[in-house]
Amino acid sequence: MELLEARIRRDGKIRGGDVLKVDSFLNHQMDVELFNQIGQEFYRLFGGCGVNKILTIEASGIGIACITAQYFHCPVIFAKKNKTKNIAGDVYTSKVESFTHGKVYDIIVSREFLLPSDRVLLIDDFLANGSALQGLIQLVRSAGAGLVGAGICVEKAFQPGGGMIRGMGVRVESLARIASMSEEEGVTFC
Ligand code: 5GP
Repeated sequence: MELLEARIRRDGKIRGGDVLKVDSFLNHQMDVELFNQIGQEFYRLFGGCGVNKILTIEASGIGIACITAQYFHCPVIFAKKNKTKNIAGDVYTSKVESFTHGKVYDIIVSREFLLPSDRVLLIDDFLANGSALQGLIQLVRSAGAGLVGAGICVEKAFQPGGGMIRGMGVRVESLARIASMSEEEGVTFC
């Protein structure tokens, strides 16, 4: 998606070689006009697939998922990062390793919101090592729901997540795919 790539080139900041900061438009300050374009693009890609629920993970995915859901006319569920040791009753749970902090945490979704009859589209801001998507896929499978695919804003294609998730047979559509990046050279897209 040309618009997103141009924005990353202009406003993205590379930190430590493998972290792209997009705080000024994607996951701190949010450019809602850009989100609208992103939502429309996800609808163009997945609109014919019978999606009736969008699943994302807190916190950065929520804004993008909500705007996207306005095109699909469906609800958004966000997997919560569980902070307590005891996981209470009626939830599906899986584990995610945080790319930015390195910690492993549980994510949960209430059973009442994810049903076997659902056709679920996953949405997230970034795909790096694939742990966040893998955790979300696990939740969908635990519920026995149908998985339509994953819509990702920025895939760092030089990291293994995209290959791993596609290797599981899941359709992944990334709007900007970064082939390489460095503080000196900037970002190169696939
Ligand atoms: P993964 O689980 O695929 O390794 O990482 C995906 C998650 O880590 C995303 O939900 C995103 O919040 C975060 N993340 C991964 N790489 C980056 C990055 O380069 N920049 C930012 N801002 N977040 C990232």
